[in-house]
Amino acid sequence: MILTVTLNPAVDIAYQLEELELDTVNRVQAVSKTPGGKGLNVSRVLSELDCDLLATGFLGGSLGSFIQEGLEAAGIKHDFLAIAGQTRNCIAILHAKQQTEILEAGPNISEQEAQQFLKHASALLEQAELMTLSGSLPAGLPTNYYAKLISLANALGKQVILDCSGPALLEVLRSSAKPTVIKPNLAELSQLVGQPVLADSASLKAVLSQELFAGIDWVIVTLGAQGAFAKHADNYYRVEIPKMTVLNPVGSGDATVAGIAASLACGVSDHELLKTANALGMLNAQEKRTGHVELANFAQLMRTIQVKEV
Ligand code: ADP
Repeated sequence: MILTVTLNPAVDIAYQLEELELDTVNRVQAVSKTPGGKGLNVSRVLSELDCDLLATGFLGGSLGSFIQEGLEAAGIKHDFLAIAGQTRNCIAILHAKQQTEILEAGPNISEQEAQQFLKHASALLEQAELMTLSGSLPAGLPTNYYAKLISLANALGKQVILDCSGPALLEVLRSSAKPTVIKPNLAELSQLVGQPVLADSASLKAVLSQELFAGIDWVIVTLGAQGAFAKHADNYYRVEIPKMTVLNPVGSGDATVAGIAASLACGVSDHELLKTANALGMLNAQEKRTGHVELANFAQLMRTIQVKEV
């Protein structure tokens, strides 16, 4: 079983408007409300791949119940910790080819809830093969919270894929708790090393050779339309992908994480893992819906992706 962790999930609300008018009333006909958050996107793609998974994290209030019902309707197993605070809404207003987002910060996690979740996750990890950790930390949790979860997994010999950015990621890299995989995009990698990183192989290889990444088995840098660049132990790979028409690239990184998790769970070659991860990212970008892939096109796409050792 793959354990997917979403510490700050949301109800994603999308409003479609011809035009957004400020300082007046906007009435909206086309509305969608779905369980959201990066870890839940990972869960949806894993479910579409028919992987055995369990979604966990913090949920509270009526919006927490709404998310649980949504996951059940999608046939996704879940075991979240109930908290006193209210799960958040995140609103995206799609208007005249633009997207305006209003993102709530989310509930505050108490110290007691934070401790309780470590026990909860530890029990779930016993039955898991690997764990994915996605997204930002909600208010109340210390920046080393992901490092604590990774320590629990390390103690049980379980693999971890970490997809977060900023101080939470830096804290993990500086700690002794090492994830199996991190998956920054180019902007996140640049933020991490404190300077802009170019997308060419020589620059990426030089950056990933830094001591900061020592002890992490896989570093997979996703490069949007330019594919990806990866380091696995002492091997470096460039992933080249074909040009394609993109509908909505939001959530492509989460589909990539699902591909990495599914590949690690069944133990495939480096080339196969990188191709699968990119194919799923691309399939997500070809869909309107975030965290959804059309698998009918998977095998054909796999043949068009090239992995070259650098
Ligand atoms: P994130 O969503 O984390 O920022 P990326 O945008 O790099 O991650 O996307 C993850 C993967 O999805 C890429 O490595 C690539 O395989 C695929 N992808 C994303 N955007 C595009 C695009 N515009 N064209 C083709 N593939 C894309």
